[in-house]
Amino acid sequence: LNFNKAEFVRSAGEPKDFLRDGLPQFAFAGRSNVGKSSVINRLVGRKNLAYVGASPGKTTHINYFLIDQKAYLVDLPGYGYAKVSRSEKERWARLMETYFQREADAITTGVLIVDIRHKPTANDLVMHDWFRQTGCPEIVVANKLDKLKKSQVEPALELIQETLELTERDILIPFSAEKGSGKDELLRLLVDACRG
Ligand code: GDP
Repeated sequence: LNFNKAEFVRSAGEPKDFLRDGLPQFAFAGRSNVGKSSVINRLVGRKNLAYVGASPGKTTHINYFLIDQKAYLVDLPGYGYAKVSRSEKERWARLMETYFQREADAITTGVLIVDIRHKPTANDLVMHDWFRQTGCPEIVVANKLDKLKKSQVEPALELIQETLELTERDILIPFSAEKGSGKDELLRLLVDACRG
């Protein structure tokens, strides 16, 4: 599974555009500005496949990227951006609720991106619960590792682990989209998931 062979295939603003053809799907979620686009761009080795955002939260769409003709990377719309209008928030909620209701069994692996510097937010917890309810394996990516001092990393990971109530079986990867740390581990896990 070669992540360097990635192409944008579809943007779904409503449920009729959800894509489902039996290929494995890796669903990426995270709050606005957490660096979701940067993580995706890092994985596929491109600067701007996923849009790295000047206007966070303005894109309530689910974007599908085909990876090496074998799997989809599903970029779920970011959440939790304060300046988004109420109607846009409602649109987000409707889209995501429908996505998790209808597409749950299509998700091969959930990737929840959080900020390593902060306690996961209430919205992160909601997303985490949605992934858990699908029954799919979930990988938690703790991004912006480069912003912490070495001594701060372990306590930060523990806080994330406790807040999300992760068990030993759950996977938590310290990651830096900026520097590339964690990339190989995340890629390996996704490749393994794809093999089933
Ligand atoms: P998105 O809204 O979640 O897609 O977030 P973006 O990918 O647009 O990133 C938001 C901001 O965080 C941008 O200014 C990025 O350059 C920055 N950023 C993303 N990942 C990292 C990281 O690992 N380290 C640092 N230092 N900055 C990051």
